[in-house]
Amino acid sequence: MGQKPMRECRKIGCHILTRTTYCKKHREEKQRREAARQREYDTHKRDSAADAFYKSSAWQKARALSIASHYGLCQDCLVEGRFKRAEMVHHIKPLREYPELALVQSNLRPLCNKCHAKY
Ligand SMILES: [Zn+2]
Ligand SMILES: [Zn+2]
Repeated sequence: MGQKPMRECRKIGCHILTRTTYCKKHREEKQRREAARQREYDTHKRDSAADAFYKSSAWQKARALSIASHYGLCQDCLVEGRFKRAEMVHHIKPLREYPELALVQSNLRPLCNKCHAKY
């Protein structure tokens, strides 16, 4: 019939006979582990890409320009009548989802750390 012979599942201690490397249960287990590893890897890749972005001179310039054009003030505090120094520049549309807007001034909002924590 040309069918592969049944063998024991490759998982140590599992004696279920299968025509694939692992029995159904251990095949699914392996797929779940690999998916989890892939997710972890993707997160790490994204984080290091963001890291590199925040260190880039293009970002340093865009950030400085944004702060300067808003008089160095936290924009959320300003709306509420408080004058507080901006401590960071927030991406209104998140960097992760809109990398093309990463350096667009209208997407940048200088904020103090306290206001930024609300986002
Ligand atoms: Zn098994
Ligand atoms: Zn603020």
